[in-house]
Formats: sequence, C-alpha cells, structure tokens
Amino acid sequence: PDLVNQIAAGEVIERPSSVVKELVENSLDAGAGRIEVDIEQGGARLIRVRDDGGGIPPEQLPLAVASHATSKIGSFDDLERVASMGFRGEALASVSSVARFALTSRTAGSDAAFRIEVDGGKVQAARPAQHPPGTSVEVRDLFYNVPARRKFLRAERTEFAHIDDLLKSLALARGDVEFRLSHNGRPVRVWKAARDEQAALARVAEVLGEDFPAQSLRIEQAAAGLRLSGWVGLPTASRAQADAQYFYVNGRLVRDRVVAHAVRQAYADVLFHGRHPAFVLYLELDPAGVDVNVHPAKHEVRFREQRLVHDFLFRSLHEALAQTRA
Ligand code: ADP
Ligand code: MG
Repeated sequence: PDLVNQIAAGEVIERPSSVVKELVENSLDAGAGRIEVDIEQGGARLIRVRDDGGGIPPEQLPLAVASHATSKIGSFDDLERVASMGFRGEALASVSSVARFALTSRTAGSDAAFRIEVDGGKVQAARPAQHPPGTSVEVRDLFYNVPARRKFLRAERTEFAHIDDLLKSLALARGDVEFRLSHNGRPVRVWKAARDEQAALARVAEVLGEDFPAQSLRIEQAAAGLRLSGWVGLPTASRAQADAQYFYVNGRLVRDRVVAHAVRQAYADVLFHGRHPAFVLYLELDPAGVDVNVHPAKHEVRFREQRLVHDFLFRSLHEALAQTRA
C-alpha cells in the first residue's frame, strides 16, 4: 500500500502548493471559519494547516489517512452531485506516504484532542494531545523518502509563490472565511472574513492587490437555474490584467473554454476590444448540471448544457458591460 499511495501521490501531489490545496480544501469541507497556513522553506520543510472546523473523532483518525477512505460520499448518488471539495479520499493517504505527517484534531463537543502520526506511510497509534476544537495537519520534509521528487522542488521563494497564489484563489472563493499565511515564522497574509457585500469587494481588492483594477462592476444575474455574481474590472488604458481572472463554478476555480469564450466575446463586443479583463466571477448551478470529475486537479469541468451556460454568461456580462457605456 505504501508504494500504491506513493504512486497516487505522484498524481495528486506535484509540489508543496498541491499539499496546501488538499489540506485547505479539507478545512473548508469541515466548515472552518478560520484557516491558518504556516510554511517553512517554501513548504519543503514544513506545511501546517490549522482550522477551527468540525474536527475528526479519535476512532476515525486512522481512517482519515487510509487510502480511499472518505467521509464525504455515502452512495453513488453522492458521487453524481459532489458538493464538497474533496471526494476521492486519497489526499491524506498520499501526502502521508511521502512525508513525516501528523494529524491532530478535536471535535466540537469533546474536551480531548488526539494526534496520529504517519512516517512515510507507517501509521502510529493515536495519542491524546492538546488542541482547540478543529484540526491541524503537519507535513514535514515533503518527499524525503522519494528523492527523485524532492530534487524537483524549486527555489524556496518559487514554491512559496505557488502557495501564495493557491491561497489567493481559495480566499477569493470563500470570502466568508478568514485566511492567514506565514512563511518562516513571518506573517505574510491576513484576510479577514467579509460579512457584507462592501466588505466582500474590499477583500477581493485586498487579495488581488494591484492586479485588481480600481474600478469594477458588480455582476448579479440569474436565469434558467443559473446564477452569476462577482465583479468584472473595467480596464484602464495602461494595463492588461490577464493574471486576475478567477472563475468559480459552485465554489471551484475553473479554467474552461466555454467560460473563457463567453467572457471574451462579451468584452470584445461591448467595450474593450482585444483586452484581457480582470474578473472574479461565481457561477452557481445545480451540481447535477456540471461534471467536476474530469481531472483530479479539478480545474476542468464539463457542463451538461454547454450552450445554455455559454449564452447565459455572454448575455449576463454583455448586459452589465453595456450599461457602463450608456
Ligand atoms: P477526502 O477529502 O477526499 O474525503 P482526504 O484524504 O482529503 O479525502 O481526507 C480524508 C478524510 O479525513 C475526510 O473525508 C475527512 O473525513 C477527514 N478530514 C481530513 N481533513 C480534515 C479536517 N481538516 N477537518 C475534519 N476532517 C478532516
Ligand atoms: Mg480532501
């Protein structure tokens, strides 16, 4: 099973930021309101994610690190409509097979915390520990037992930049959650939860920094079971904003040809011919209308009704942008 998990790890865990992605998504799945990510040496030495979510009961700790063990799918029907971020039940098994790993957790109702350690795939017995309600996962010395992979880790600041970008995309997806990020003991990001619309925009601007234009347009459209919300930037003459393009489908960041085409068309048609607009957009639809399981990295989706989605996006953006010209 070690080898199997290590091979699986090769698919899911490319670099430290892939570990952060899996851990933070687990925290979000657990209903966390606050997530702290501590990184040392670009993640090569330490990745620690702490949350105040629902926690894991002690008897389930060994299961959490076992291969294909997920608490998130009860039936095939669930598979069809995956609402949670994680659904494959292999992330912790994979990560813990290629690092020195510890999982400490306390459930909301309990006054005791427990910790389980896994060293290169070898699971130790759970022991009592100190921890507030919620969960901490520590991943030390990533790929220490897979030298061929360890060798391919990039410079500390490159790996950290990947982590920072990843956290941005998650923080934009979940404006209602507080995120903190530190590197080598130094606080780098503190993004407080936004409680209302105005705070939500302020937070988007804060997360994206100067990648987000000073002027943006609020989008809020719904039709035919589809709902689009968010902000599109009104580009200035001086700068293209190709980097700050975030499109979420039911909370997941997506890079999709159908989406990209609809957005590009709407802009080209109304205002900014040939420009790359900045945007942060959220599309919500019935999970049964979209297949998110196209690729494990989960950036791809397949819409059941591509045409409908495309036309809805195009029309929504077109309408909103056209108003700015009037
Ligand atoms: P998946 O997320 O696909 O279910 P993972 O390997 O990422 O698989 O996690 C395995 C299980 O461990 C999850 O199904 C969940 O029950 C539990 N778990 C992992 N991280 C957390 C967390 N931060 N809080 C609560 N439970 C967690
Ligand atoms: Mg997961």
